[in-house]
Amino acid sequence: MPTDNPLRTNDQHLSWDWFDQRGPTLKKWLSTGLDCTVRWHEPSAEHVTFRAGGPIGALCFPTNESALVRLVQMVVELDLVVLMLGRGSNTLIRDGGFPGVIIKMTENMAGLTIRQNEVSVLAGTSLHALAHATASAGLEGLEWSSDIPGTLGGGLFMNAGLNECSLSHAILQVTSLDPRTGSSLTYERAQCDFGYRHSRFQASPEIILSAVFMLREAGPAGLIERMNEIARTRQAKYPLEFPNAGSIFKRPPGHYAGALIEQAGLKGKCRGQAMVSPKHANFIVNTGQATATDIEDLIEEIQAIIWKRNAVRLQPEIRIFGIRARN
Ligand SMILES: Cc1cc2nc3c(=O)[nH]c(=O)nc-3n(C[C@H](O)[C@H](O)[C@H](O)COP(=O)(O)OP(=O)(O)OC[C@H]3O[C@@H](n4cnc5c(N)ncnc54)[C@H](O)[C@@H]3O)c2cc1C
Repeated sequence: MPTDNPLRTNDQHLSWDWFDQRGPTLKKWLSTGLDCTVRWHEPSAEHVTFRAGGPIGALCFPTNESALVRLVQMVVELDLVVLMLGRGSNTLIRDGGFPGVIIKMTENMAGLTIRQNEVSVLAGTSLHALAHATASAGLEGLEWSSDIPGTLGGGLFMNAGLNECSLSHAILQVTSLDPRTGSSLTYERAQCDFGYRHSRFQASPEIILSAVFMLREAGPAGLIERMNEIARTRQAKYPLEFPNAGSIFKRPPGHYAGALIEQAGLKGKCRGQAMVSPKHANFIVNTGQATATDIEDLIEEIQAIIWKRNAVRLQPEIRIFGIRARN
């Protein structure tokens, strides 16, 4: 399971004692007029699409880049663990919670500008809004992403994609903030180390701030029809009636995770109220009150069965953070 966070150096400080000792100082510093809303001990279930998981020490919503930079400085100075969050559509926080700071970038840091074929986008912008704005402007290259329920930041971190398309294909530049130095860096596409559900940001503490795409001109009507067609197909194929986090496992080389899981007879298999979707075997759904432990245990059980049956190691696509039980 990936347990990394943007400031990996202090991973050992992921404990409630550590957070509770430093929380009051953070609260004092944050009350000095920073453009940032904070929710203390916020249930993560309200911020991830699985609708499960434990509390977040401090969930912060900076409203501009300078507030973000200042917030990151405070977190670094207090040696707190920090994690970025977009719409939480690929994230799960364990039931013991995340005793650190989570910086949420959605509407609070969103927006886009279109200049001819170039589109500049802030990290908190939803992929849905981005796809619709560009298609309506007669620009092709992102319409396939209109139904992916994430943000640009989470999408670039994951290099989100559909079939043969991925965000990396249309990227010109990505700008990030290095929390260690407080400076921003701009990367050309070739420097982003994009691959299948992979980017350089997965091995770096950087925070994605914005990106520039270069798109092709095309008729808006055709692009909008394509988006509608994709939405209809996904509606029929995916178990969207239950909370979920999209595909649980990455595609293993030479196989499809969903096919392996289905052939192993695991559709409908439950752990607590987490279930392998009977509609699509690479989805786990929360049928009601599933805990993060139910979901993680089910993931591990599927991995063990597929390893034994097919000698294939399924790698989770979703990212799991935090601690299992309160310490
Ligand atoms: C119903 C459903 C369908 C889906 N379909 C697809 C699909 O077709 N294709 C696909 O690729 N994915 C799909 N997903 C998964 C998910 O939507 C994508 O991975 C999406 O891009 C994640 O965006 P997010 O904002 O929700 O990221 P989050 O889950 O919030 O974060 C994901 C990761 O990115 C990091 N991160 C977030 N923002 C930043 C930032 N600004 N800087 C640095 N790191 C950051 C987080 O720390 C975390 O590790 C689907 C999910 C669901 C629920």
